[in-house]
Amino acid sequence: MKIAILSRNPDLYSTRRLKEAALERGHEVRTLDVLRCYMNINVQNPSIHTLGKELPHFDAVIPRIGASVTFYGAAVLRQFEMLGTYPLNESVAITRSRDKLRSMQLLSRRGIGLPVTGYASKPSDIPDLIDMVGGTPLVIKLLEGTQGIGVVLAETRKAAESVIEAFMGVKANIMVQEYIKEAGGSDIRCFVVGKKVVAAMKRQAPAGEFRSNLHRGGTATLVKLHPSERTTAVRAAKTMGLNVAGVDILRSARGPVVMEVNSSPGLEGIEEVSGKDVAGQIIEYLEENARPRRTGTKGKG
Ligand code: ADP
Ligand code: MG
Repeated sequence: MKIAILSRNPDLYSTRRLKEAALERGHEVRTLDVLRCYMNINVQNPSIHTLGKELPHFDAVIPRIGASVTFYGAAVLRQFEMLGTYPLNESVAITRSRDKLRSMQLLSRRGIGLPVTGYASKPSDIPDLIDMVGGTPLVIKLLEGTQGIGVVLAETRKAAESVIEAFMGVKANIMVQEYIKEAGGSDIRCFVVGKKVVAAMKRQAPAGEFRSNLHRGGTATLVKLHPSERTTAVRAAKTMGLNVAGVDILRSARGPVVMEVNSSPGLEGIEEVSGKDVAGQIIEYLEENARPRRTGTKGKG
């Protein structure tokens, strides 16, 4: 197969590993900087160019689109889809998963376990919003944050009110969430490929921190999943329409709850901790599923 990897940086661990895994299996690979791709959108002969030349046809494309380039990246990916290239994850599914609130709504519709989540726009609704999610402590999240930035734990009602008011004051989109204290500052990353969780790890926040993001100093260890956690992760990825996803789960007293579904999950931590060839499994998935023009829109909303 001829495979394109859409990534801003060819030296990133995930990009390098995917390239390596594809080459090992005898495929042709080209890494493309998504911001250097530009497009000709027309009916007769749509095309994608980079560095002054039209791109050849690719059988499959692996999007590794960072949160900061979601809009442009999704447009480039859509163009590949129009040209009949099979995307590892579809553009619609990626856009869908980047909006935390929309994701929560879709998951709740399917009855997937979630932290109780509230959303409001007017400061006058704050007191009831806080009650809706069960009072304090609670978590306040910027809808488009990543790597733990924009996730705040408010321990008291006063703190919650003033933080929510401040975010509303600067017109930031936020959601308010029940704090899952039992998780003890840890979460579980389930790496889903197709209909399977191929690797999982537990991330633990450092002392004095509740966010387990590795970027916030969290540490990762191997974890044995409960069958209900596997099912939850696979269902969450399917609901979002993602073939490959990093599903983050909190272990709550009422069972697994999904916190977020990541459409470009990193490979470094998960391969290191699990010792598994996750990049290889992704390429195998493409080998089994990539067919010309096989891109129905998956998932809902
Ligand atoms: P980001 O996209 O920035 O990673 P997350 O929603 O994943 O945002 O939150 C970051 C971290 O904060 C999570 O990995 C988890 O450790 C912690 N966290 C988030 N929401 C909750 C919650 N409702 N209850 C307990 N801990 C949470
Ligand atoms: Mg996260």
